[in-house]
Amino acid sequence: MDKFDVIIVGAGLAGLSAAYTLAQAGIEVVVIERGDYPGAKNVTGGRLYVNPVRQYLPDIWDEAPLERHVTNELLTMMSSENSTTIRFRSEKFNRPPYHSYTVLRATFDRWLASRAEEAGAMLVTKNLVDDIIKENGRVIGVVAGGEELGADVVIACDGALSLITEKAGLRSPGDPKNYAVGLKEVIELPRETLEDRFGLTGDEGVAQLFMGSLTQGCFGGGFLYTNKSSISLGMVVGIKDLMEKKPPVEVPNLLDDFKERPEIAALIRGGEQVEYSAHVIPEGGIDGLTTLFSDGLLVAGDAAGFSLNMGITVRGMEFAIASGVMAARAVQQARERHDFSAASLACYQQMLEESFVLQDFKTFRHAPHFLENPRLFSFYPQFAGRVMEEVFTFGEGPKAKLSDTVRKHLSFGEAWRIARDLWGGLKI
Ligand SMILES: Cc1cc2nc3c(=O)[nH]c(=O)nc-3n(C[C@H](O)[C@H](O)[C@H](O)COP(=O)(O)OP(=O)(O)OC[C@H]3O[C@@H](n4cnc5c(N)ncnc54)[C@H](O)[C@@H]3O)c2cc1C
Repeated sequence: MDKFDVIIVGAGLAGLSAAYTLAQAGIEVVVIERGDYPGAKNVTGGRLYVNPVRQYLPDIWDEAPLERHVTNELLTMMSSENSTTIRFRSEKFNRPPYHSYTVLRATFDRWLASRAEEAGAMLVTKNLVDDIIKENGRVIGVVAGGEELGADVVIACDGALSLITEKAGLRSPGDPKNYAVGLKEVIELPRETLEDRFGLTGDEGVAQLFMGSLTQGCFGGGFLYTNKSSISLGMVVGIKDLMEKKPPVEVPNLLDDFKERPEIAALIRGGEQVEYSAHVIPEGGIDGLTTLFSDGLLVAGDAAGFSLNMGITVRGMEFAIASGVMAARAVQQARERHDFSAASLACYQQMLEESFVLQDFKTFRHAPHFLENPRLFSFYPQFAGRVMEEVFTFGEGPKAKLSDTVRKHLSFGEAWRIARDLWGGLKI
C-alpha cells in the first residue's frame, strides 16, 4: 500500500493546522477530507479569539480572511414577550491587534488549506475514510475509498462524531449529555445596511448571545455574529434535553421561531439566506474528552472533545488550531526518536497540559454542570423581563420603590435558590 509519513483525517481547523505545521517542517503529509472542499462541511457560530493561537500559527494572521473584529458584546435574556440585553462596547477592542474576530469557515478553511498545500501538504477531497488499519494493536494506516494507505502516524481530526477514535477504541459512542446540536444560517445583507442596522463603522463587529425562551427550557441558546456583509445566526440545543422534551420540539422550528422574534426579524429583514447548516458540538468539558493518543494515533480538535461552552462564549476553534499544531509537533519529536508508539506520542498530552488547551478545560471543569441548570433558560430570563417591564411602566397610581418591585417577583424560596445558583456560578 502507498505509505506517507503522516495521514490526517479531516480538513477542518485541527487537520489543516496540523498539516500546515508538518508540511513546513518538510514532513510528507496527506489530508483526507470527505467534503467537496475544506470548509464545505464545517460549521461554527463564528467567533475566533486570536490571542491564544497567534503563537501556534505565527505567520498566517496578517493575511487570514477574517471578517470583522468584535467591539460590541451583547448578552440577551429572552422570555416569551420581552428581552433584556446587556451591551458591552470597548474602544480597547477597536484598537489593533484585535483579539476577537468573526469568521466564515467556508472561506477561512479553504484559505488555510491553500496555505498548507503551498507549504507542501497533499490534500485529497471528496474522500471518506471508512476505517483504520491496525497491526499488532498499532494504527498503521487508513482505508479510504476502498484503498489502503499507510503512515507512521494517523492524526484523527474528523470532528465531533469521530469515527476514527471510535474504531481505535478510544471512545464509546457518544453520551447525549456530552453533545449539543447547532443550526446556523448565513444571511447576506448589503454591507451599508448591515453597518447602519448594527451601528458599526469600518470592520467593527457585533457578537450577541441569547438565552431563555428560544430553547423552550432546554439547555442551549442562540447566537448572532456580524460578518463583512452577512449575519451568522443560529442556535445550539443540548441533545439530552431535546430527547427528553415533552412534547418533543424540532430544532429547525425553534430556529424559525427565533428568527420571527421582533428583536431578530428587524435585524435580518430583506436579507438573503445563502447557507444553512447543522452540526454536533462536544459539550462534555474535561470529562467528555477522549483518550488523546495511542500507538500510531493522535487525536485533535473536536474529535478529542475540545469544545468548551463557558456560558458567555463557545470555544472550539482555538482548541482545534492549537491541538492540531501540537499534534504535528508531537509527530516531529516522535520522528526524531524513530518511535511512534503511545509512549513516544505521549509528549502530545504533555504539551496540551502545559498549554491553554487543557489548562482551560481544567479551569472550567464545572462549567458543563453549572450550565445544566434549567433555571438559566427559564426562571432568570423571565425574572429579568418581569422586573424590567415593571421598572419601565408607570401606571395611574404612585410608583413602587425599585426594591419593592424586585421583592414582589422574588419569594424567599427564589432568593435562596438564586444564592445557591450564584454559589455554583462562582466555581466557574
Ligand atoms: C453551531 C456551532 C457554533 C459554534 N460556535 C463557535 C464559536 O463561535 N467559536 C468557536 O471557537 N467555536 C465554535 N464552535 C465549535 C467549533 O466550530 C469547532 O470546535 C471546530 O469547528 C472544530 O474544528 P475541527 O477541525 O476539530 O472539526 P471540524 O471543523 O468539524 O472538521 C472535521 C472535518 O473532518 C471531516 N471528516 C469527518 N469524518 C471524516 C471521514 N471519515 N473521512 C474524511 N473526512 C472526515 C469533516 O468533513 C470536516 O471537514 C461552534 C460549533 C457549532 C456547531
